[in-house]
Amino acid sequence: MSFKMHLLTSRTVAVILPVLLLLGMLYSYIWRHYRDGIFGQEVRPADGSSSRVDFTIVNHWFHLVASDYLEYQQPSIVQGSRTDVVTVTPWLAPIVWEGTYNPELLDSIYRPQNISIAATVFAVGKYTKFLRDFLETAEQHFFVGFKVHVYVFTDRPKEVHQVKMASGRQLFKRAAVDSASSPLQLTVVPVPGSNRWQEISARRMELIQTLIEEKLQNHMDYIFCLDVDSKFHGRWGTESLGALVAVIHPGYYRDDRSKFPYERRPESTAYVAPRKGDFYYCGGAFGGLLQEVHRLANTCRTNFEADAKKGIEAAWQEESHLNRYMLINKPTKVLSPEYLWQDFKPRNPEVRIIRFSGVIKNYADIRPNV
Ligand code: UDP
Ligand code: MN
Repeated sequence: MSFKMHLLTSRTVAVILPVLLLLGMLYSYIWRHYRDGIFGQEVRPADGSSSRVDFTIVNHWFHLVASDYLEYQQPSIVQGSRTDVVTVTPWLAPIVWEGTYNPELLDSIYRPQNISIAATVFAVGKYTKFLRDFLETAEQHFFVGFKVHVYVFTDRPKEVHQVKMASGRQLFKRAAVDSASSPLQLTVVPVPGSNRWQEISARRMELIQTLIEEKLQNHMDYIFCLDVDSKFHGRWGTESLGALVAVIHPGYYRDDRSKFPYERRPESTAYVAPRKGDFYYCGGAFGGLLQEVHRLANTCRTNFEADAKKGIEAAWQEESHLNRYMLINKPTKVLSPEYLWQDFKPRNPEVRIIRFSGVIKNYADIRPNV
C-alpha cells in the first residue's frame, strides 16, 4: 500500500468512526425516549373526539365569580397556612390539604354555576355489602349542596334496590336540611359478574368510558370514580374540582419513586422507568371534567387491551395504567392522601382530617378468587 493510500484509509477511518459512534448514540437516545414514552406516549386510543363524543365547553372552569357580600380571612403570600406539607406540584397544580383553602369561598363560587357531579361506583359480587355505608356517608359528606348523581354498576341490582330502600330516608335528608340542594340521585347499571376480581377491576375503565358517551356527556360537568369498599368521614367538595384530578396513594407518599409499585416491565404499555414518576396515585379515586376522564378511561382501556393481546396484565391492573397516564398527562389538581386513606393505617400527623378511606376487608371472604 502506498503512503498516500494509507493516509487516505486512516483519514477515512478517522471520519467514519466518529460518525458511526454518533449514529449509535443517536439511536440509543431515540430508542430510550421511545421506550420511555416521550415520543409515542401510550398506544394511541381510538380517537377520543370521534362523532360519538361531543363535549360542550365548560364555562365555569375558566371564569370564577365570587360573591361581593362574602367576607373572609385575608389570604397571605408570605405566610402559608400549611408549612408542614407541599401544596403545589412542580407543574403548578395545587395539592389539596386541609387548611389550604376556604370551603365557604369555594362553594360560593361554584353554587351559582349549578354544576353537577357524577360518581361511579362498582359493586360486583359480594362487594354489594359495602354499598350502604358508601352511599349513606356520601350523602353526608360528598358535595353537599350540589347536584350529585351516583351510578352503581352491579351484577346484583336487586340488592342495590334493597339498599336504596333501606337508606331512602337518609338519602333524601339533604333536601330536608337545605331546600336549595338536591338529594343524591341514584342509577343502577346492570353489568355481568365475573369470577376474577382482576377482570372486574380492569373492566371499570371501559364501563366509565361508555357511561360518559351514552349517558353523561352534555348532562353532567364533573365525574369522580370511586372504590365502593370505602366510607366518607369528612368533607369532599368543590375544593377537589379540576380538569383532571388524581389522589395520592396513602401507602407510598413518603417513599422514593423507585419503590412505587408501577408496572416495571418495558413490554407493558403501563411501563414506568425506575427514574420516572411524580407521585403514586390511587386507582380507587380519580376524576375531573367529563372530557378529561373520558380521555383517561379510553386510553387506559386501549392500553389494557393492547397488553392483554400480548398476554400481559399490569402489576396493579388499571391503577398501573392510570399511573402511566398521569405521568404523561399531568393532573391539574392533586388531592392529598386525606382523600383516600386506609382504615388499617395509623393516621400520620400531616393528615389532619381523613375525608374518605378504604375499610378493612377480608379478601378471601369477598373476592371471587384470590
Ligand atoms: N370490585 C367489585 N367486586 C369485586 C372486586 C372488585 O365490585 O369482586 C370493585 C369494587 O368497586 C372495588 C374495586 O373494584 O372497590 C377495587 O377492588 P378492591 O377494592 O378489592 O381493591 P383494593 O382497594 O383492595 O386494592
Ligand atoms: Mn378498594
